[in-house]
Amino acid sequence: MDLKQFVTIVEDWPKPGIKFKDITTLMDNGEAYKYATDQIVDYARDREIDLVVGPEARGFIIGCPVAYSLGVGFAPVRKDGKLPRETVKVDYGLEYGKDVLTIHKDAIKPGQRVLITDDLLATGGTIDATIKLVEELGGVVAGIAFLIELSYLGGHDKLDKYDVLTLMKF
Ligand code: IMP
Repeated sequence: MDLKQFVTIVEDWPKPGIKFKDITTLMDNGEAYKYATDQIVDYARDREIDLVVGPEARGFIIGCPVAYSLGVGFAPVRKDGKLPRETVKVDYGLEYGKDVLTIHKDAIKPGQRVLITDDLLATGGTIDATIKLVEELGGVVAGIAFLIELSYLGGHDKLDKYDVLTLMKF
């Protein structure tokens, strides 16, 4: 299935010059969403995944159905102040300024094999911060899966050491 036909390019959003890749038109098509999910599940099956981890909010949309299909758990990575119990935190760079991502300290047991999911790889800042959180808790990043990679932003270079699946490249 050609998944790109289900992604809507929104010109000049959220600001002038940006061509936003809107995946909601992929998700609201049952066949396309299932196909994309199944591709990631197939990739994950060979990698003995114990847990799926995804950053809010679109990492949940990809990661939760994958975790369900694999029969493993899902642990959310969230912005600071959203998780109710003790967390570990990491700062990460945004285009302007910085932000903080967090995960519950007991979300990952040392040695667990983790699949990280997100909808889109742009500069790689979000995924880099998510990897740091997983590794700080002793998790092994056994795979990373995206629906979309924006190749021209070079985020892939940050992931040289990792096993990465991308379903669509723009
Ligand atoms: P990065 O940290 O620069 O790699 O940006 C990736 C994060 O920004 C992901 O969590 C995406 O959800 C979000 N993002 C950036 N650009 C887009 C886009 O065009 N469509 C959807 N999400 C985007």
